[in-house]
Amino acid sequence: MRQPEKEFNSILGKFSPQFAGMNRAVFLDRDGTMIAEKNYLHRPEDIEIFPATRIGLKNLCDAGFKLFIVSNQSGVGRGYFSLADVEKVNRHLCGELSHSGIRFERIYVAAEAPDQPSRGRKPSPQFLFEARDEFDLNLAESFMVGDKLIDLECGWNAGVKRSILVRTGYGAVVERESPGEILRAVVVDDLTGMAEWILNSNSKLKN
Ligand SMILES: [Mg+2]
Repeated sequence: MRQPEKEFNSILGKFSPQFAGMNRAVFLDRDGTMIAEKNYLHRPEDIEIFPATRIGLKNLCDAGFKLFIVSNQSGVGRGYFSLADVEKVNRHLCGELSHSGIRFERIYVAAEAPDQPSRGRKPSPQFLFEARDEFDLNLAESFMVGDKLIDLECGWNAGVKRSILVRTGYGAVVERESPGEILRAVVVDDLTGMAEWILNSNSKLKN
């Protein structure tokens, strides 16, 4: 069903901050951020969810944030595994996290190899823009979290409030080797630290 008023506000929201979407979101990289980094992981049985993932994401859900996963899966484009494998892993991960009361609005996957044309491969902000339009998000009050520079750049390219680097996965190496590039980022140990940082900065703004 058409919702003219919503469509109108959505069009205005692209140009005018006072009409920006109402919802706040956290966009999450998957491998090395939510689960242990394993080279080209593609089997559900290889998933290792960081304990900090459950705690942090539950706290954000309870605080009303909408959660999204934004994942580059070049193993598909390289022919190492199929998109169906990626979806199987994602389904299993979401099923596991749902037991902790965590729910994702949408999972965005860029399946192309780096040398292939891609609509949404990070650091492209395309998936964040699509989520903004579909879920009425205010990107300027939202966050992007990951363990690589491309995750941080994706967030900056989309105009999020802050890009956040976790020290899990490749994050500790990025922090050590790219100090100049991450100056604008918030750096935290893991997703529990990420949620604490967001919720603390939120309450400081209100007070
Ligand atoms: Mg990663």
